[in-house]
Amino acid sequence: MIRSNSLLLCALLLTMFQAAMCQVNLKSVDQVWDHYERYKEPVITNRFFKHTDVVSLIKKHTTSGLLISEEIGLSVKGRSINHLTLGTGKTKVLLWSQMHGDESTATMALFDLFNFLVADDEHKDLRKLILSSLELHIVPMLNPDGAQQWKRRNDLEIDVNRDARMLVTPEGIALMNLAKKIKPEIGFNLHDQSTLYAAGRTDNTATLSFLAPAYDYPKSMNEVRKRATQLILTMNKALQTKVPGKIAKYDDAFDPRCFGDTFQGMGISTILIESGGYYADPEKQHIRKLNFYALLNAFVSIAEKTYASQNLADYQEIPENSRSLYDVLVRNVSINKEGIQFRTNLGIVRSQIKSSDFGSMSYNGRIEELGDVELTHGYDEIEASSLTFTPGNIKLMRKSEWEVLSPQQELDLIREGYLFVKWTDAASPVGPLSARLLNLTNKATNTIQSASIGQQAQFLLSRDGKPVYALLNGYVLDLTKDVTAVPNVFGY
Ligand SMILES: [Zn+2]
Repeated sequence: MIRSNSLLLCALLLTMFQAAMCQVNLKSVDQVWDHYERYKEPVITNRFFKHTDVVSLIKKHTTSGLLISEEIGLSVKGRSINHLTLGTGKTKVLLWSQMHGDESTATMALFDLFNFLVADDEHKDLRKLILSSLELHIVPMLNPDGAQQWKRRNDLEIDVNRDARMLVTPEGIALMNLAKKIKPEIGFNLHDQSTLYAAGRTDNTATLSFLAPAYDYPKSMNEVRKRATQLILTMNKALQTKVPGKIAKYDDAFDPRCFGDTFQGMGISTILIESGGYYADPEKQHIRKLNFYALLNAFVSIAEKTYASQNLADYQEIPENSRSLYDVLVRNVSINKEGIQFRTNLGIVRSQIKSSDFGSMSYNGRIEELGDVELTHGYDEIEASSLTFTPGNIKLMRKSEWEVLSPQQELDLIREGYLFVKWTDAASPVGPLSARLLNLTNKATNTIQSASIGQQAQFLLSRDGKPVYALLNGYVLDLTKDVTAVPNVFGY
C-alpha cells in the first residue's frame, strides 16, 4: 500500500514537473518572439531575393561550422539545390520551402531560424532542447529557377508540387530522393497563397493556413496524419495569441500529384503551411515572423511530444480558407451607367506586375466585382452611401511644370478633381509610374467615365460635387488627410 502510494506520488510529481517544463518552454518561445529582431536575417529585406543570396547565406552558416550543407541536385538551369542539416536528436524533421518560385515567405523565416539556432544568448536552453531532440533537414528554395523569374513553375514549365508521381522535374526528384534517404518522421511543406483568402467568411485575413494532407481519396485518418493534425493544433494555439482569428485550414481533398499527400502516404507526418496576407504587409515581413514563431513552437512540441495531448476534434474549429477578400471594397456607392443611376458595391483587386529584372513589383488596381458582395470584405473598406462615383479630369501642363510638381501640389490638384496630367509639349511614358500621385496620359479624354469590370480603378468619390476620396490605381487616398504615397500610379 505504502509502495503504491509513493509510486503514485512519483508519477504525480513527474507529471507536474513535465507540465511545468512545457510551460517554461512555451514561455521561452514567446521570449524569442520578443527578441526576433536579433535573429531576422538582415540580408533579406523583401520577397524577391534570389538563389545567389541563398547560396551566400548558406556559405556564411557552413563556414561557422554549425550547419552542414550538401548539394542534392541541380535545377533545370543548373542552380544548386541545397540540403542543410543541424541538430543531433532522434526525431528527423524535413522542411522544404519555395517549391513554387514566387512563394518565398517561409524561406526568409528559415534563415531567421538558422540565425536563432546557431546564436549564443540567454535562450540556450530552448536551443539545446531543439537541437538535442531533433535532426533538422532543411531545403530552402527548392525551385531556384522559379525564384529567379518570380514564377510558380520550374523551367520545364511544370508545377513541381504536381510532380510527386511522375518525377520529371530535377527539383521534384531531388526532394523525393532526399525524403527516401533520410526517412523523416515529420515534414513541413512551406508555401504562399493569395493574399485574398479570409479565415472563414469573416473580415479576418487567412494570414497562415494549414493542412494535414490526406493520403487517400476517402480522406482517412491514421497515426501519421493524426500527428500532423495535432502539430497544426499546437501551432494554431500559439498563433492565436499573435494573430487572433487569422488562422485557417486548407481544403483537404486528396491529390496524389502533390508531395504533401504522397509523403503522408509514405509515413511522413506532413504539414502544409501557406503564408497568406496581412494588413499593410505587402512584403510579408510580419508573416515571416509568424512562420518563424509557428515553426519554433512546432519544434518544441516535437521535442517534448506535447502535441500528442491535442484533441483532433478541435481541428474542426479552425475556419476554412475562403477567397472572399478584395484589396478595396467600396460599399453603396452611387454610379451612373447607361443612363441609370444606382447604388452598388465595387470590389477592387491589385494584380502584380513584375519588373524586368524580377527584383521588384508594381501593381495594377482593377475593378473585379460590381454588385452584391455579401460575405466578402476588403483590406480597406469605404462606406460610400453618401458618395458618388466621379470620373477624374485631365490637367494640361508642360513637361517641365510636371517635373517640379510637389506631392502637396499633386494632392491639391486631386482635390480639385484631377487624376491625370497630359503634357502639352511631349509624349509621356506609358506603364507603372512610381513616386507620383497623379497619373500621366497621352490621351485627349479620360476613358474611365463609369465603373466597369476589368477597368482600372482610377476615380473619385464625391460628396455634393466635392471629391472626398480618390482611388488611385486601386489605392485609397483620403483627401481630407495629409499627403501620402501610393506604390505606383500609371502612364497611359
Ligand atoms: Zn505553393
